[in-house]
Amino acid sequence: MDSIKDRLEKVKDRIKKAAEVCHRDPEMIRLVAVSKTVPVNKVQEAIDAGATILGENYVQEARDKINALRILPVSWHFIGHLQSNKAKYAVRLFDLIHSVDSLKLARELNKQAQKNGKIQQILVQVNISREETKSGASVDEAIGLVTEIGHLQNLSIKGLMTMPPFFNQPEKVRPFFAALRDLRDRIESKAAPNVSMEELSMGMTGDFEVAIEEGATMVRVGTAIFGERT
Ligand SMILES: *Cc1c(COP(=O)(O)O)cnc(C)c1O
Repeated sequence: MDSIKDRLEKVKDRIKKAAEVCHRDPEMIRLVAVSKTVPVNKVQEAIDAGATILGENYVQEARDKINALRILPVSWHFIGHLQSNKAKYAVRLFDLIHSVDSLKLARELNKQAQKNGKIQQILVQVNISREETKSGASVDEAIGLVTEIGHLQNLSIKGLMTMPPFFNQPEKVRPFFAALRDLRDRIESKAAPNVSMEELSMGMTGDFEVAIEEGATMVRVGTAIFGERT
């Protein structure tokens, strides 16, 4: 099996190629290496090989890894479902939280950020496919939610995130990515105060090239870097 370094290089190459296909600047697309369930030595290996952003789904698990690797100059992002009662820890640990999907959670994050003297950067997670098993605000809720969050002084909205349904064919996911981009454009045109829509977090191992073609600025890739999760 290829080393993490080789795999990481391959993913970066694919990102670059996908960007070239659609005439985008590859520098505008950031790779979030998704390290959920990956042990700390492997995460360290990825960082040594050049990973600069790590994505984690579970607060407790992330806390242990971040503590173990805290001297390394990397950015940690939270991409999993976040419960309000974990907001306190999330604010201390993460530079960007991709998965804000309710005003209740946003208010709690704002409160904790205030206590920590921090401006917490966040993305609003949108459930584009309306799957009941997926979290995220509906498309209809998203605009209102973004506006409300814009009023919270210690949160800074940077854009949107989505988790589309899983298909074996990435082309089938394309409409969901396009829909998130359309929603971003609609929100941007309303120009709510204190709201930036520069980031679109979408695309995973199976479909990140298509996501890039549809405008992703952050792709969240786990399996292609670390191998199948056990
Ligand atoms: C696990 C996970 C990923 C990475 O998925 P892979 O298919 O392993 O690349 C991306 N985003 C979220 C929210 C995840 O939970």
